[in-house]
Amino acid sequence: MRKKIIIGNWKMNKNRKETINYLMTLNHMLNKNHLLSDNVDVCLAPSTLCLIATNTYINRGGLFAKNSLRSLIIAAQDCDSEIAGSETGSISFMQLHDEGINACIVGHFETRRNHHLTDEQINKKVISLTNNNMLAILCVGDTLEQKTENLSKQYVLEQIEKGLKGVIIDNLDKLVIAYEPIYAIGASNPVEVLDIEDMIKTIRNKLAELYNQNAANSIRIIYGGSINSANYIEYAKSDEIDGLLIGKSSLDVTSFYDISYGVSQALATKYPTLGNKYYTLKQKEIEAISKPIPEPKKEKQEVESIIKNDIDAIEQTKESAIDAEENK
Ligand code: PEP
Repeated sequence: MRKKIIIGNWKMNKNRKETINYLMTLNHMLNKNHLLSDNVDVCLAPSTLCLIATNTYINRGGLFAKNSLRSLIIAAQDCDSEIAGSETGSISFMQLHDEGINACIVGHFETRRNHHLTDEQINKKVISLTNNNMLAILCVGDTLEQKTENLSKQYVLEQIEKGLKGVIIDNLDKLVIAYEPIYAIGASNPVEVLDIEDMIKTIRNKLAELYNQNAANSIRIIYGGSINSANYIEYAKSDEIDGLLIGKSSLDVTSFYDISYGVSQALATKYPTLGNKYYTLKQKEIEAISKPIPEPKKEKQEVESIIKNDIDAIEQTKESAIDAEENK
């Protein structure tokens, strides 16, 4: 069975403090209430500016981050397919990799639209990411006009075929496909489960054609568009839908936790608990969590010493290179 994945896409929201507050709260919920079990991957895509703070909090701020939070996948919202170059304003997949960010959303409708991305450019990103052992979350989706004209499948399959051109079969475990109908993104009505299942089956058949049935069966195909903690239940129950990509509702930590934990519990208990409210923050907890964040001394020292070690290592390499040059 494919492991489900819940992805929160924060888009252009939350500054560093809000990000750390969110993580602290999530950590608090996980420790105090329930841990996620191993049957679900949870992923957050904060803004680029907050990726490092998120990674530092989760992986180096050992003081706070515990249990399930440690397994949180941190994803970027976009990247460039080149290692480096004259691309003002861009961030390369390798820069993400070097910072320990090993997942990235690719071809989200808003990025396609705002940056006029072609399927060929998106394809290059998927190749760069998967070739470098990074998770590519490839978004595809149809417009309302295409739906009305019965062209949705044709259009989505074209995005799949072009987006995956040259992606080798051995790298498919580094791929998640997110079907996000454009008319459902940021709206209030998710697409009906049956329609999503139908599209997912169509995508899977295409993957079997492009690779083989076994490979197609192993790829996670998830849904995104207008999902929240009140309506996710039907989607979580579906065996065809391997997870959810959540925009607006992921900004609220309680909703995101309820959905993630709800899906995890549902799988563990065969659904009777779906839709439960798992955590309601008490007033005292809200006050404690909203207090100004104290300067995390230990964490700061740890990060500073890592940076210092990096600088020392670079200096040493430079010196050896100079020595080697002089001794020629
Ligand atoms: C998205 O932007 O990928 C998305 C699914 O947004 P929302 O959940 O707000 O519809």
